[in-house]
Amino acid sequence: MADVSFIGLGAMGFALADTAAKSGREIVVWNRTSDKAIPLTDGKVIVASTPAEAISASPMTVVCVSDYATTESLLGTPECFAALKNKILIQLSSGSPALSRKAYDWAKRAGAYYLDGEIVAYVNNIGCDEFPLLLAGDKSAFDAAEPLLKEYTPRTRYLGSDPAKSSVLSLAALSGSIGLTIGIMNGAALCEAAGISFQELTKDIPTNVAYDGEALMESLSKLDNGGLESSDAPISIWTEIAGLMIEFQEETGYSTDLSKFFLQFYGKAAALGLGSNDVGSLIEILRPNKT
Ligand code: NAP
Repeated sequence: MADVSFIGLGAMGFALADTAAKSGREIVVWNRTSDKAIPLTDGKVIVASTPAEAISASPMTVVCVSDYATTESLLGTPECFAALKNKILIQLSSGSPALSRKAYDWAKRAGAYYLDGEIVAYVNNIGCDEFPLLLAGDKSAFDAAEPLLKEYTPRTRYLGSDPAKSSVLSLAALSGSIGLTIGIMNGAALCEAAGISFQELTKDIPTNVAYDGEALMESLSKLDNGGLESSDAPISIWTEIAGLMIEFQEETGYSTDLSKFFLQFYGKAAALGLGSNDVGSLIEILRPNKT
């Protein structure tokens, strides 16, 4: 028996397998394009000829392919179904909460212990940096896989038995990234409209982002613990800021789309009487029946 099998050697799957092999684990790999295993084959790596053979060769299998439909097409064979009995299956392909639950139910029918994971990082972070690796599903599978997963990142975290949780939490974190990205791109447009170089903007963003990030973490903790009723930078200030952006963009002919979206979003909360509250109160307009 090898230590662990890997199905999928794309950019991410290769990094996961390579890290495990470099730390001295005996690994078995399978990939549709078998040539991708060549850089791994230093004598310790076995290349399986089918996904079922890879699953049979180790107590646990990590699958990281393009999406859940690909996983289904590869593992949805009678051979894989039989091979998975009493084995650990760790799905690290990205997918939706509903797909995570479906995969969990399927794995349980096969008699496997299942973990659904989300890698909130890029390929070159694997084994080198600290990033969230979020897992949910069978606790016994997590306990067995934890030493391997912590080699990828010390911030490996078990979220509980609901297999959809890792997908939801990863989407929630990425939502923050989208907000930051569109906010910064709108800022870049404001700079261009005023003839300020993007280079100038980069000098201020890192410190500003760190400051805002800290303030937002405080807002999230106030959501749990109370204290949202007042703020040094309440919701009403952000509506005024969005209004000033719109004014300048209209003057210069730049798109007001994002600024109007910001105004509408914060403005909705202000209209509900939350203008003097901390931005954590914006959650009110995202809850059901608030639109
Ligand atoms: P990738 O480089 O495009 O690799 C895709 C993998 O899926 C390859 O192993 C590919 O096999 C396999 N595949 C695709 N279609 C297939 C099919 N019909 N039959 C069999 N195998 C098939 O993608 P990746 O970057 O490794 O990403 C893998 C997963 O990790 C994705 O769900 C992605 O969202 C997630 N992820 C990636 C990153 C990242 O930075 N790359 C970060 C976080 C999460 P072949 O080699 O034969 O084409």
